[in-house]
Amino acid sequence: MKKVQTKTCDVAVIGGGPGGLPAAIRAARMGKKTILVERNSFLGGTAASGLGILGYLDRQGRKALGGIAQELIDRLTGYGGAIGHYPCPVHNSITPISPDWFKIVAVEMCREAGVEVLFNSELLDATIENGRVVCAEVYGKCTRTLIEAKVYIDGTGDGDLAYMAGARYMSGQDGTGIMQPCTLMFTVTNYNLEKFLDFAEQSPENFGIKEDYAKGYDPTFFRASRGHCFIGMDELIKKAKAKGDFHVPRNQFIHITTPADGMLAINTSRIIEIDASDPYQLSKGLEEGYLQVRELMAFMNKYLPGFEQAQLAGISPTLGVRETRHFVGVKRLTHETMYAPETKREAVAQSAYNIDIHSGVKDHIDLTPVAEPFGIPYGCLVPESLNGLLLSGRTISVDTQVFASARVMGPCIAVGEAAGTAAAMSVDKGIELRDVDVDALRATLRENGNLF
Ligand SMILES: Cc1cc2nc3c(=O)[nH]c(=O)nc-3n(C[C@H](O)[C@H](O)[C@H](O)COP(=O)(O)OP(=O)(O)OC[C@H]3O[C@@H](n4cnc5c(N)ncnc54)[C@H](O)[C@@H]3O)c2cc1C
Repeated sequence: MKKVQTKTCDVAVIGGGPGGLPAAIRAARMGKKTILVERNSFLGGTAASGLGILGYLDRQGRKALGGIAQELIDRLTGYGGAIGHYPCPVHNSITPISPDWFKIVAVEMCREAGVEVLFNSELLDATIENGRVVCAEVYGKCTRTLIEAKVYIDGTGDGDLAYMAGARYMSGQDGTGIMQPCTLMFTVTNYNLEKFLDFAEQSPENFGIKEDYAKGYDPTFFRASRGHCFIGMDELIKKAKAKGDFHVPRNQFIHITTPADGMLAINTSRIIEIDASDPYQLSKGLEEGYLQVRELMAFMNKYLPGFEQAQLAGISPTLGVRETRHFVGVKRLTHETMYAPETKREAVAQSAYNIDIHSGVKDHIDLTPVAEPFGIPYGCLVPESLNGLLLSGRTISVDTQVFASARVMGPCIAVGEAAGTAAAMSVDKGIELRDVDVDALRATLRENGNLF
């Protein structure tokens, strides 16, 4: 390898998804020299896949997110890339976003804040000295870049930096190691939603969610709510399975509306029993994902009223990975401590979303409503023993059930802003990340509009 460059900065963020992007923006806005490393050619991570964002409203319809999370939506709205927050009986709320406008707004906000973005750069290694991360080596276009930062934030989703730095972690769910499945998202056009909803109305057996909490999740709701996530068509899928036309290990069809007229995102492919933090399993998962998209297009055209003429519009540029490593932090938020007074006192972000576990070995989803938002304490972002590193996004230290709520993009963005704020405060004061004053951190986050 010919070229080796060294870059120094205050804060280095690895991964530019919901967990990493706001961290970099906030740290830079607080005057810190900030570098954001992203292996893709775009920022946004899973937010650039077509999915709507969950977590903006709680079950009562109250706002649960502010700060950069709301700013992103305000900016997207200005470009037609978002259309508001929509309450939902099943998902509490959904905030449809345009994946492509998200990419543009992300760059716009980084540019304005003064973040140096390194695209197409993948983390290669980490150097640890005396229990502290002192260098992250990244690679792109025949160039190795040694990033020497005062502090690092891991926004890679899988926790690649924490892993390379030797932080303790568990893979998958407590006790079993099972991971929620992966999905290759895709979008379709040229469908007739009215016809689809007419069919759904005439065949209530195709409504997949029959639990009491889903009251009102019916065709009237879908007709009235421009922003929605439909889950159902169970009987139709059974029929297709019986005829050998449906092999995806999923019992329901899921579509999500997007801000673009005539464009739906399809969240129905499902790749189970892979560990996507392993590159070979990830590759196999992608292969499987592409072939599932082929089968799902055929299924829609053949079986789904209103989708007879549907056309494939686009496939997400990356495989959607729900779950891999969970790192052990100074604090581990559990189902039992979600509402503990200490959790509330130390919260730097919150999750208003439900406990939503897509089975990693079977075909269904287990959903438990979360009535009230719960706080995410700062200690969940701080690795138990490593210094110079914060966890962000879906890598934070929580148990299986808390993860199943806090993993969605809304809380990940809020956690990211908290991580960036804490990083900037530790640099300003010349103290360890674990010693950041949580009360001062909470006050700064609140001044910046965050809710918890
Ligand atoms: C199929 C699917 C459906 C979902 N549905 C929803 C939904 O409807 N609404 C919702 O709000 N949430 C949903 N989620 C959850 C949510 O999207 C993720 O949990 C959330 O995006 C996690 O944010 P993150 O920043 O931690 O990780 P990611 O979004 O994965 O972002 C990580 C970023 O880091 C980069 N990166 C990774 N490794 C490296 C490396 N080694 N070097 C450099 N860069 C790296 C990636 O390219 C990416 O940009 C879904 C997730 C999946 C997979």
